[in-house]
Amino acid sequence: LPAIFTAAFPVLQQLEQANYEAYFVGGSVRDLLLKRPIHDIDIATSAYPEEVKQLFPKTIDTGIKHGTVTVLHGGSSYEITTFRTESGYQDFRRPDHVTFVQNLAEDLKRRDFTINALAMNRKGEIIDLFNGIGDLQKHLIKAVGDPMKRFHEDALRMMRAVRFMSQLCFDLEPQTEKAVKDMHQLLPKISVERIRDEFVKMGTGTNSRAAFKVFLQTKLSEGVPDFAGKSELLAIYPKLKFNPSMETSLWAIIIILLKITDNQITQFMRDWKNSNAMTEKVKKIVNLFDLISAKSPSDLELFNAGKETLLNTIDVAHILGQPINSEALVDRYTALPIKSMSELAIDGQFLIANGVKPGPNLGQILNQIKQKVIAGELVNSEDDIQEYLEQIK
Ligand code: ATP
Ligand code: MG
Repeated sequence: LPAIFTAAFPVLQQLEQANYEAYFVGGSVRDLLLKRPIHDIDIATSAYPEEVKQLFPKTIDTGIKHGTVTVLHGGSSYEITTFRTESGYQDFRRPDHVTFVQNLAEDLKRRDFTINALAMNRKGEIIDLFNGIGDLQKHLIKAVGDPMKRFHEDALRMMRAVRFMSQLCFDLEPQTEKAVKDMHQLLPKISVERIRDEFVKMGTGTNSRAAFKVFLQTKLSEGVPDFAGKSELLAIYPKLKFNPSMETSLWAIIIILLKITDNQITQFMRDWKNSNAMTEKVKKIVNLFDLISAKSPSDLELFNAGKETLLNTIDVAHILGQPINSEALVDRYTALPIKSMSELAIDGQFLIANGVKPGPNLGQILNQIKQKVIAGELVNSEDDIQEYLEQIK
């Protein structure tokens, strides 16, 4: 077993010694069997949260109401969740309350897909009650139990289905796919933040184009912000050449495909509850993409875009099949006399020391100098800039 599991053995052991059951569950077991990188370890136990807290010196109340305590052990953290079922899904999203149960089987039954309903004990033995291993081998995302019922309980699972398709390069099991088609109208019951997180994982996964196709075909796309009635514009997505590996590129591509204009980008990003920081980054990419598509951007425009935006934009252009001379653009960027204002040989203080009065005029002069330096019309040295100042006085 990989070290990430063996490091957690003492935690399981501690629980077992206190006469509780404890298992590795969910994504880590799935990813172990798929030989994929494992990022976090979830543990399910028969112990109640209060009991877990008594057994370990360092714990965090992550979600006591839902039965989750985080245990810190040996420099790692483990989410330990009491066996539970969920009941009373009144509004198609989170359960009204959870009921703690005494056996693993009940806990596994509430999980979304068969490949996510696997458990493993400390000996490395797999507990597979729903043929999750068979579905792993067949590369299938299949709901545990009746898919219609399961999506009715929690509509987010439909987004999770296409997300796992993309990340794992799996197919949707036909009955599960049919249920997504039948139940897609329930998706808007889910909060945009939760939809967005799954959407981004889908859009940046290895098999995002195939997953996106299903996302469109099942009409899940009709239930997310600003996508309704836009399936024709989005149908290009599955035909793109590569996958966007970054979230910023994904949003930029979607915005370009939807033909969202500059002044509507902020609203679009807001509708998806994206952060202002993300919005600014995406705007810069879309902006530079427009410049590059129309003509060659000026040196000043390259400077304003910055390296990260330039590389992201080149990525986006490649994915969209937009012919651009990326090497020339990178060369031009590399050749810029300065890449940021901090590289300018002088600053505001210098201007004041040379007789420029503080105020709006100072900013203008600084800007002029910046532009001249970037355009190669002024050498970026104190002496040259001082000389220039004398001229314009
Ligand atoms: P990842 O590798 O992305 O973390 P994961 O399978 O661990 O994938 P999580 O969202 O971390 O996914 O959820 C952990 C586990 O909890 C899942 O494997 C699944 O068993 C269960 N689970 C999570 N969300 C749901 C849900 N909406 N409905 C039912 N079970 C769920
Ligand atoms: Mg996880």
